[in-house]
Amino acid sequence: MVTSRQMRRLFLSLSVILIIMTISITSEAKAASIPEYIKVGLRFKDTAATTYTLSSESGFVLGSVSDEGFKETLPLPAYNTLIACIEGNHVALRDTDGVLISLDIGRNGCLMPLDYKENGIITFEGKKYRGGIILNIESNNRIKAINYLAMDEYLYGVLHKEMSQSYPMEALKAQAVAARSFAVESIGRHYNDGFDVCTTTDCQVYGGYEDEYPRTNQAVDETSGLIIWANGQPAPVFYLKNSGGHTQSIEDVWTSSHLPHLVGKTDPYSPDYPWIATITFDSLEQKLLQAGYDPGSIESVQVGGRNSAGAVSELIIKGSKDTVILEKERIRTVLGPSLVRSRHFNIGEVYLGKNSVTFEVQMILSNGTKVKNAQDKINIISADGKIKSITSENLYITNGKQTAKAKTVAREAKFDDSIVARGKEVTFSGMGYGHGVGMAQDGAIEMAKQGFNFIDILKFYFTNIEVR
Ligand SMILES: [Zn+2]
Repeated sequence: MVTSRQMRRLFLSLSVILIIMTISITSEAKAASIPEYIKVGLRFKDTAATTYTLSSESGFVLGSVSDEGFKETLPLPAYNTLIACIEGNHVALRDTDGVLISLDIGRNGCLMPLDYKENGIITFEGKKYRGGIILNIESNNRIKAINYLAMDEYLYGVLHKEMSQSYPMEALKAQAVAARSFAVESIGRHYNDGFDVCTTTDCQVYGGYEDEYPRTNQAVDETSGLIIWANGQPAPVFYLKNSGGHTQSIEDVWTSSHLPHLVGKTDPYSPDYPWIATITFDSLEQKLLQAGYDPGSIESVQVGGRNSAGAVSELIIKGSKDTVILEKERIRTVLGPSLVRSRHFNIGEVYLGKNSVTFEVQMILSNGTKVKNAQDKINIISADGKIKSITSENLYITNGKQTAKAKTVAREAKFDDSIVARGKEVTFSGMGYGHGVGMAQDGAIEMAKQGFNFIDILKFYFTNIEVR
């Protein structure tokens, strides 16, 4: 017979077992989604060298890195500076007098500062890093150097590079979660190179310990463990500087299939970001040749189509030999992404976004004469590139001889895709900066200023997601 007291005890102990199981399953699931450590390629391929200088105020400990983490093999407390060099087919260590300390540090040999458990800092080629440096021989007989460090320590060195530490804390926290999500999705991105991520915009820009600031570290700490989830999975995320008024669906930007959390939407938060770029037809021909096209000498450029978010989806470039049609983000890749800053552009005329206006200006002299050679369409952009609202009372124009108050008539700016650039050059006038997919950093900053928190910001730019 089982008494009710025994039943209760059995039930209690079963509950305890269940709770313990739940806890271990939860922490396992979390560990599987956010790796504890990340490998950042500092020097590889063309940037790899045959010798490096490393230093540490506390001394060093040599070890090796495997899936189980860092394992110490040889403490080197007496050395503050070591030279990594090549001996045969191995990475060796010498002291500053050239005395051999290790003939072969072994595959995935890693130097840590002796006080690595107390957040010690290592200096590699004059730059400070957290964690340690893995040194391996490259196929070109140079030494590949990889910074091996904890995930959040890596994010400390990323955040200010992606969004200045002076911006509002909730925007920095949104950026920290987006950067962590990107890093989690990027584990093994450089698998063939032997590490996870590189330090450039190819992955995320990483500046190491010297790019850390108290406020960006705080944003990483206060969001520790949080990433973006979509459909029960860690979500691939993207971010950009300024959406130009509308973000983009991923399939409208790259050759990617539709992803429900990366859907274009009207963005009222990204402030106006106008830009103008002029490319000569000669330079355009060179850019096309470099990208593998051969159009001959360029004759004309025009917009061939737009997507539902208002971005140019097709650019038609006619040449003496061939017509080249660039599609989606390929337009910026070929023409130069920092020159053609977004695909919200017009050819020729200044385009200021869907909700902005242009002005028709008449110059009327004191005697009532209308000056005919005044430009009939102008946009007011100050020297720093920002648009300032100007009332007609404050607007004066000059033709070089006479100056007068301008009469302005506001009218809605419209796309005019019938404009064809001919002659010697093409001018693009646009709004926004970046590919348009995911979180607009300028918009995130504006949302934070308006009182939204980092979850609100992420849920605005990524559709139907969870932050956990
Ligand atoms: Zn990369």
